[in-house]
Amino acid sequence: MTQLSELTTLHVGGAAQRIIYATTEAELIGAVRECDETGTPLLVLGGGSNVLVGDQGFAGTVVVVQTQGNSYEIDACSGGMLQVAAGVNWDEFVAFTLEKNLANLESLSGIPGTIGAAPIQNIGAYGHEVGEVIARVRAYDRLKKEVHTFTASECGFEYRSSLFKNEPERYVIVDVTFQLRRGELSLPVLYKELADALGVEVGARVPTQELREKVLEIRRNKGMLYSSADQNWSAGSFFTNPIVSEQIAASLPSDAPRFAQPDGRVKLSAAWLMQNAGITKGMSHGGAKISDKHVLALTNSGHATAQDLIELARIAQEKVKAHFGIELTPEVRLINATL
Ligand SMILES: Cc1cc2nc3c(=O)[nH]c(=O)nc-3n(C[C@H](O)[C@H](O)[C@H](O)COP(=O)(O)OP(=O)(O)OC[C@H]3O[C@@H](n4cnc5c(N)ncnc54)[C@H](O)[C@@H]3O)c2cc1C
Repeated sequence: MTQLSELTTLHVGGAAQRIIYATTEAELIGAVRECDETGTPLLVLGGGSNVLVGDQGFAGTVVVVQTQGNSYEIDACSGGMLQVAAGVNWDEFVAFTLEKNLANLESLSGIPGTIGAAPIQNIGAYGHEVGEVIARVRAYDRLKKEVHTFTASECGFEYRSSLFKNEPERYVIVDVTFQLRRGELSLPVLYKELADALGVEVGARVPTQELREKVLEIRRNKGMLYSSADQNWSAGSFFTNPIVSEQIAASLPSDAPRFAQPDGRVKLSAAWLMQNAGITKGMSHGGAKISDKHVLALTNSGHATAQDLIELARIAQEKVKAHFGIELTPEVRLINATL
């Protein structure tokens, strides 16, 4: 039996009862329908880079989405519309769009995983989110037993969230259509760290390829580029940045980073909260370790169990709660594991 540790970037997780690799849309929908008709528990997986599967594994069918292909129209005036299958590798797609002289995805370079998972938590980095450039998402609705096309506004994109994340058992994303701008200049650089590394002011635009290379370099230095050969395995940031009321934000020490949100609330830095609650880089628990390079990444340096990671996450949560009264929420989806 295949261990789910072989299919996830944290490299933990016990066996799956059955695994189906779906390479066409018909195979993907067929496998999902079969599970639903037989009452078999279903887990849909892309690249396994945003999940923590428990040591007991998954007593059901895991469908690994490996559908490939894209169709696109590029117009000199309106830009590119690209419809991409869910199983396509995210970062290979980003590189492809830049080669085609299409901009807007450059700051999302280097994020592991698949196209189909990108809308689920509205992946984002360096101030930009994928929801900004998604035109449509086609998804199989397990409740209605049909494929439905969602416009961007129907997807309910929010910070690390969407309609699909809110109902994780309901939709299986089949493909995503992106609307991209033609051009060689990036979207405005919104992060000071990135702007400084590029030697420009915040708000400047730079050549898309230059921005991609700088993002990849920064990610590499932070251990945020996944490589199976580098035993610093993680699922990226383990917790989301909490969004709290103005009143709670005001109660924090003055040096706590605060980012005003359009609805009047305030986004905090989970990394700052952890560091200031006594969680330090390199801190370990069993085989699980806080990354040496990035406090928000919980890592498996080769011999961690899922339980080790869960316990380390719990320690982080408890310390932040005790120091600041703020609850950290996992960004990673927990499967047969509870925090
Ligand atoms: C080193 C590293 C760096 C990262 N950096 C970032 C970052 O900067 N920003 C960011 O947002 N994320 C980041 N992540 C998290 C992760 O890469 C993204 O969330 C990615 O989109 C997950 O893709 P995946 O294919 O691996 O999804 P999986 O981990 O396989 O699945 C994630 C969730 O989506 C569901 N799912 C997957 N495919 C489908 C589908 N076709 N239909 C329905 N449900 C589906 C799964 O059931 C699961 O609930 C990082 C992860 C790592 C390991």
